[in-house]
Amino acid sequence: MNIANWLHSAAQRWPERPALFEGQKQLADYQMFAANVRGLAYQLIHEHGVGPGDRVALFMKNCCEYLELMYAVWWIGAVTVPINCKLHRSEAGWIADNAQARVIFTDDGQVFAPGELSDDCREQAGRGRVVEHVGAALAMPYTCDADRLAWLFYTSGTTGRSKGVMLSHGNLVAMSLCYPLDVDAVSGSEAVVYAAPMSHGAGLYNFIHVRCGARHVVPDSRGFKAEEVFELASGLGEVSLFAAPTMVKRMVEQARLTGYGGEGIKTIVYGGAPMYLADLQDAVATFGPRLVQIYGQGESPMTISALPREVIADRQHPDWTRIASSVGLVHACVDVRIVDADLRPLAAGQPGQIVVRGPTVMHGYWRNQAASRETLVDGWLLTGDIGYFDAHGYLTLTDRCKDVIISGGSNVYPREVEEVLALHPDVFEVCVVGEADAEWGESVVAFVVARDERLLDEQALTAWFTARMASFKKPKKYVFRTELPKNSYGKVLKTELRHWLKEATSTAAIV
Ligand code: AMP
Repeated sequence: MNIANWLHSAAQRWPERPALFEGQKQLADYQMFAANVRGLAYQLIHEHGVGPGDRVALFMKNCCEYLELMYAVWWIGAVTVPINCKLHRSEAGWIADNAQARVIFTDDGQVFAPGELSDDCREQAGRGRVVEHVGAALAMPYTCDADRLAWLFYTSGTTGRSKGVMLSHGNLVAMSLCYPLDVDAVSGSEAVVYAAPMSHGAGLYNFIHVRCGARHVVPDSRGFKAEEVFELASGLGEVSLFAAPTMVKRMVEQARLTGYGGEGIKTIVYGGAPMYLADLQDAVATFGPRLVQIYGQGESPMTISALPREVIADRQHPDWTRIASSVGLVHACVDVRIVDADLRPLAAGQPGQIVVRGPTVMHGYWRNQAASRETLVDGWLLTGDIGYFDAHGYLTLTDRCKDVIISGGSNVYPREVEEVLALHPDVFEVCVVGEADAEWGESVVAFVVARDERLLDEQALTAWFTARMASFKKPKKYVFRTELPKNSYGKVLKTELRHWLKEATSTAAIV
């Protein structure tokens, strides 16, 4: 089963439905979308010699051609390798090389200097190409098994070197079928806005929206600007988008400035990183019942658990605080278990590693058997996340395995320390990491961005914290920053903060 069948069938059923938009301007209906895809597919075969199973990399900012190119690649049974457009070209070159891509599409075809790509990989302009329609040629997508590789998903690298997650057509189909069941029903009158990079989570929303014949909208800025999203929503209506928690926070700040209340937005799906309760409260107060949370990872994309909109919006529920801090209920198509260090299942309420099995789970890491063996054990994906189930089936993440701080023999989960500090009215953002400590093994360090630096100091935060949480979890040190380092998906780069701490300590020792 080739996922490109979904485009083929949408174009047959609804040839004149609006499909691709740049801002509020329509560029193509479904008939033209599919015709462009077939034209590009033809070029891939005849100009670039791409065949079934070959890899084609995309190193471009969001644009409508991004979707056309991806579908062209799948149409002929080849594999897309979407690369985060914010990477340095040497990193993108590394990925193209690792994936042994035959072609790499960039905006203008002029990103790489001669010799920067391997000899077998050609750079091509992905935008502004003249696509000839090819009549009856390539009338149907290439027929393939569900197991065939479709998308090499290079992880965002918050935990070290990027690895190519192998996702098959079957993975993408299973993920997309679960979406209307467990996240948000979709209909053809809706629009999906790509405000986060299409190379990552946001790009995965295209499938179900293609399947339902909905509109696909790339903002004119080709990135994320809260006010632009609001304008698009007001102009186009029935808009859904994926937004990392940091993006939701910016949308709330902007909405508060202008008095915007979510008009035209149907759904904001958030996930990919923890959303602090204080921020979620603000978001619900501002946007009402428009938020849905998903928890997944590249290795089981979008699909481990979801927290439904009605649960998030039900602020009157006596247990709201606890449930809203969870990542919700397990998706229909996967098994999720909590296991101990020997991979033995644990009972409800006991924290351990989250493991997942099912049709959305990746087939392994590209050309990296050692990492595949470590991560896929007896068919279970070891997520590296720690969490627990409550008696009603809500899953709460406490942290990633390697983020746990062990201080004086006690485990401290950065997430819970962050939750408490984030509630302080003068704290804008916070991130907690562990630092080597001669006495305690590790100690807790909080990086804090204040709303107003003049109003916040260490003493105030310590008082706030000790009034709310066990003192062994208390940050031993506060580092005030004007901003936190983030990757292009808005995740705080904890590795960078840890590195900074190490450097700062060794410099202090020399002085
Ligand atoms: P990535 O593969 O880059 O998408 O990163 C996936 C990781 O992000 C997961 O393993 C979690 O640690 C984290 N993550 C994803 N969704 C959520 C969520 N809803 N809440 C908290 N953390 C999340």
